[in-house]
Amino acid sequence: MNIDIWTWGTGGPFGRELGVVPERRRRGHTATSIIISEEGEDRGRGAHILIDAGAPCVEMMIEKGVSAPDLLFLTHPHFDHVSDLDRLANSRMRGLMVKNGVRDFKEAKSIFRPLAVVGAEDCLHHPKDGIRARFGYLEGLVRWTPISNYDLWQSVNLEGSIQPGQPQVRAEDLFSLEFKALPVRHSRHAPGSCLFIFRFGSEKKEDLQIRNVVISGDFKSMEDWVAESPDLLDPACIVLDSNTIRSKGNYHACLEENKARIHRWCSGDEEVLVLLNHLSGFGDYLEGFYDHVPDDDDWNAAADLAQKPKVTVRIAEDGGCYRLK
Ligand SMILES: [Zn+2]
Ligand SMILES: [Zn+2]
Repeated sequence: MNIDIWTWGTGGPFGRELGVVPERRRRGHTATSIIISEEGEDRGRGAHILIDAGAPCVEMMIEKGVSAPDLLFLTHPHFDHVSDLDRLANSRMRGLMVKNGVRDFKEAKSIFRPLAVVGAEDCLHHPKDGIRARFGYLEGLVRWTPISNYDLWQSVNLEGSIQPGQPQVRAEDLFSLEFKALPVRHSRHAPGSCLFIFRFGSEKKEDLQIRNVVISGDFKSMEDWVAESPDLLDPACIVLDSNTIRSKGNYHACLEENKARIHRWCSGDEEVLVLLNHLSGFGDYLEGFYDHVPDDDDWNAAADLAQKPKVTVRIAEDGGCYRLK
């Protein structure tokens, strides 16, 4: 079993600025995939869990030839995390029709299951700021699947049905997927903001131990009990919102603050891949830490974390693929 992390969009909500020669390559809105494949399977083929759906994730997935997502998790309802949701839902269904020779849309909807969209109750259903308030018309192409409990391991199958506790693994399942959501503080217009922790098991290969994968979503801070969760210790990979390098904004953690979190969560005994995501840097420019919006060289220089050689900190690339050990 192989686990690949794909980072489709790694930029902040605005990515680059109009009227300025772009010094930054990163422009996609936030979207990250976990793709689980069998040994020997082509990269990008397998069970596909997408976390957030910022544009142009669909176009990038098509370019890289990956399979359509089986499940979508949403960390919060901000625009830059859902800007490709309409395209994703429609393009997935159209892809299924073409692949299976179905020409009638109504018939397709009755044959192919909708894409399960998993998120905190408020993230999906908040009357004003929730996803359904804006994308309710996609019902049928998507199935809204609210999570009612934080800090609880829950299993989910590829049909999107969620159960508390250990998964019921069927003979045909390659793997089992469990997740938990932990609440984070972000913005009052992003109700139900959370981070996700995923863990994987394989009935067929009992010796295989793949450590947790943490996808932070956007956050300014988190309550102590969240930051102290043992499930955050020494994961195989953390995709971490780091909107600025030094500027302490109101809605996001900066890299300097995140370095303390990386130290706390990584003992140094295990190999951990930390991918810095949501790289805006506009606040660093506003506050005069840099005389330009930070570019890749600035981020790379700031991301250096020499004290723990087993911990690799990298800035995530748009369209980057990282295989976990
Ligand atoms: Zn946000
Ligand atoms: Zn964001």
